[in-house]
Amino acid sequence: GAKDNGGNEICFYEPSLHLRAEERRRIELALRGALGGGELRLVYQPVIDAVTGRIESCEALMRWFKPEFGEISPAKFIPLAEETGLIVPIGEWALRTACAEAAQWPSEISLAVNISPRQLQDPGFMTMLVSTLARSGLEPNRLELEITETVFLNITPDTRKILHQIRQLGVRLAMDDFGTGYSSLGYLREANFDTLKIDQTFVRSASRDDPDSAAIVRAVVALANSLDMTTVAEGVETQEQLELVCEIGCDRIQGYIFSAPVPANDLRPMFADKNRRAAA
Ligand code: C2E
Ligand code: MG
Ligand code: MG
Ligand code: MG
Repeated sequence: GAKDNGGNEICFYEPSLHLRAEERRRIELALRGALGGGELRLVYQPVIDAVTGRIESCEALMRWFKPEFGEISPAKFIPLAEETGLIVPIGEWALRTACAEAAQWPSEISLAVNISPRQLQDPGFMTMLVSTLARSGLEPNRLELEITETVFLNITPDTRKILHQIRQLGVRLAMDDFGTGYSSLGYLREANFDTLKIDQTFVRSASRDDPDSAAIVRAVVALANSLDMTTVAEGVETQEQLELVCEIGCDRIQGYIFSAPVPANDLRPMFADKNRRAAA
């Protein structure tokens, strides 16, 4: 290996490896303090009914701001939180905070919260979910838990039981980022997911110039319809994408074309606006 070749290669590779591990350790340490330090917050992104144009639900998304680092993307810190198990307390905080917030929204608007597979493996998960709903007063059918298909990679009988118990509570399940994993159709059926969120990579490339991506979206929507699932197109940014996913028959739209994720306080006028427009 590199060791036998003398000093140069080692000097070239080692510092960067060292820095990466060092950065990881720094972020991990900081993440341990983030919850207690009040550095985490939630933003919410509206999901729009493609037919009525009304806000159907809002997805809670975590943000971590640390003065020394600036804003750290969840794409970076969520995987680290999963590896270290910190996702359990952090995810509990997110669920409790989001449910308390959503209990104040108009009752026709639902809440979506992302849940890591690691959280479902925690023996306290169901108790935590039940107590969170009770404390917040949010009706279970206004809550949807978003889980990626990676949950099925090493699924245990216990996790299967949890998915079943979640639905028995009346809480809905959404499969997030559909199409990015290995997308086993059998799993969709087995766990009885209510909603299928088509990953933004497909939505973004779907256009009249890219008929293959559009064909994938079309096929996924047809599959979801035949399984009685609601479809959400994620990451819709342009008018062209919007028209295409509407024409294909996606039930709901989420993306910058309508709104980026916003702080809870910014939702209230959006709820009011949407209702007025729909009523007009
Ligand atoms: P996700 O659940 O698939 O969330 C959608 C992501 O797409 C969000 O990124 C959102 O800001 C982004 N997005 C929405 N519309 C558009 C658009 O039109 N264009 C583009 N380019 N992006 C759009 P975000 O907030 O950075 O979150 C990334 C991922 O981190 C989430 O993907 C989710 O997997 C994870 N995550 C975020 N919050 C939580 C959480 O509270 N718990 C867990 N377990 N995971 C979370
Ligand atoms: Mg999601
Ligand atoms: Mg997604
Ligand atoms: Mg995603």
